[in-house]
Amino acid sequence: MHCLWLEKQTLEFRKDEPVVKPGDREALVKVLLAGICSTDLELVRGYYPFTGIPGHEFVGEVVDSPGDSTWVGKRVVGEININCGECQLCQKGMIRHCENRKAVGIHDWNGAFAQYLVMPMRNLHMVPDQVPDEAAVFTEPLAAAYEILEQTSIEPGDRVIVIGAGRLGQLVASVLKLTGCQLQVVVRHQKPRAMLENLGIQTLTPDELDNLKFDIVVEATGSADGLSLACQHVRPRGRIILKSTYKGNVKVNFSKIVVDEVSLIGSRCGPFVPALELLSTGTVDPKVLIEATFPLERGLEAFELAGKPGVFKILLKP
Ligand SMILES: [Zn+2]
Ligand SMILES: [Zn+2]
Repeated sequence: MHCLWLEKQTLEFRKDEPVVKPGDREALVKVLLAGICSTDLELVRGYYPFTGIPGHEFVGEVVDSPGDSTWVGKRVVGEININCGECQLCQKGMIRHCENRKAVGIHDWNGAFAQYLVMPMRNLHMVPDQVPDEAAVFTEPLAAAYEILEQTSIEPGDRVIVIGAGRLGQLVASVLKLTGCQLQVVVRHQKPRAMLENLGIQTLTPDELDNLKFDIVVEATGSADGLSLACQHVRPRGRIILKSTYKGNVKVNFSKIVVDEVSLIGSRCGPFVPALELLSTGTVDPKVLIEATFPLERGLEAFELAGKPGVFKILLKP
């Protein structure tokens, strides 16, 4: 099959990677669309030493599921954390944090930038008919945005700022808006501003941030500078929610966090069920975030474009 292969921080297009036969509790999924996210770009930059097929945002169709043939022909999305079911964290129900976990397209499991991928059946969710592929492919990042609401309560009066109006920041803003909080998003460029304003979300330029303080600051810039900006604009006893992962360490003055008794909340993957619900009711429509769709053969070009500043979602169609 065709795929993109990552090894030693080099991505290449391969034509003859074998298709793996799924086990009893697994399904072979034909990839319909896959999305390139910042984590994929960071993988290529060496955020984590992964060798194999990247790609963890996808919608596909089950073509083989030896343990349960009723899934064949179903359109699915898949949760990316593959847990062992036995460790302490799994026993406690924290399956996304399993000590022995693999992660689709990130750690020890081949991902979706390919014609086919194998997924454990228990990670799959059927996609409702009314959700087109172009929306379903956003289930994983939308779930990651929704995770914030699972981790902390956001009330209608809360002053909330999202720093970063890119791919993830836009989804985060769409989800947070549902709480009725006083939401603003920091934007530098006209295009993301227009997209947010279309959704009725207020925007601020970095200059307008001035000395403003917020109850909750969500850092979704995808870069190391975001956290220090977040620290400057959180009120005492406020919360900073961290959504970015990147290579390397961040320099932050932690005394301010201690003195101001600020809570730092790391936030990664989220629940698929409410994300699919938001898509199927049309409450969130992520299709506007699609910048371009490339055939898999042009995957390297697609990655290059996805890494340019201000570019929204790039999809790959095997
Ligand atoms: Zn991602
Ligand atoms: Zn486990």
